[in-house]
Amino acid sequence: MTSTELTKSLKRSHQPMSSVAAAAIHAALTRDCPDDPARRPSGRGYRASRCEACRAALPFCFCAELRPIACETRVLVVMHALERHRPTNTGRFAAALLRDARLVIRGARGEGLRPLPIDFSALDEHPEGVLLLHPGPGAALLDERYLKPSGPLTLVVPDGTWTQTRHMLRREPRLRALQRVALPPGAPSRYTLRRRVHEDGVCTLEAIGRALAVLESPSLEAELERVLSLVLSATERARGQSRGDSE
Ligand SMILES: [Zn+2]
Repeated sequence: MTSTELTKSLKRSHQPMSSVAAAAIHAALTRDCPDDPARRPSGRGYRASRCEACRAALPFCFCAELRPIACETRVLVVMHALERHRPTNTGRFAAALLRDARLVIRGARGEGLRPLPIDFSALDEHPEGVLLLHPGPGAALLDERYLKPSGPLTLVVPDGTWTQTRHMLRREPRLRALQRVALPPGAPSRYTLRRRVHEDGVCTLEAIGRALAVLESPSLEAELERVLSLVLSATERARGQSRGDSE
């Protein structure tokens, strides 16, 4: 049995997760886009005390349900800076849970409000095997031709609103130059936490899941869909409680 098969088999058996794995997930969720309550969107629902890692309202923290996901594809989430403060963001879960995934921020500002450069070193490791997941002109359909590529594959995923990600691609030559792929038509999105701009739009976690189902295995999509269910359920329960409190 290979180490990947072993990991998959352990995952299927639902053994309790080690505290080391839980700590690694917590660190990943808080390191790259730390929660900053002062910069959350305004609105009653956002003022509640939240878990710093999963960002659910505290009584509905679902961190204990998160577990690492073995995955051959290297996912690079390029998150718009404003997404860091939105509890409804889903891309960061993919970055924190998938093995070898990374998250970089676009549009962050340093001292004197100077724009901070993006760390694109992940694209240099295997430059021949990089795909950008984003619809638009020149995007090839992500289908079975891409199943299990022979070499390492990096899947780059812009994470932000539709307007933000299009802007990101216009402004970043490194991203613009990548081979672009788009998801095949699929089931309607389950993500209800934001207004959908496009009828067939999906959230970042769904998009990554669907792409990994094509590139690698449907079990990866199932696992990311499970995480999305946790996000949706925690938010709906918190909103229900918030409505109950105000009645
Ligand atoms: Zn939590």
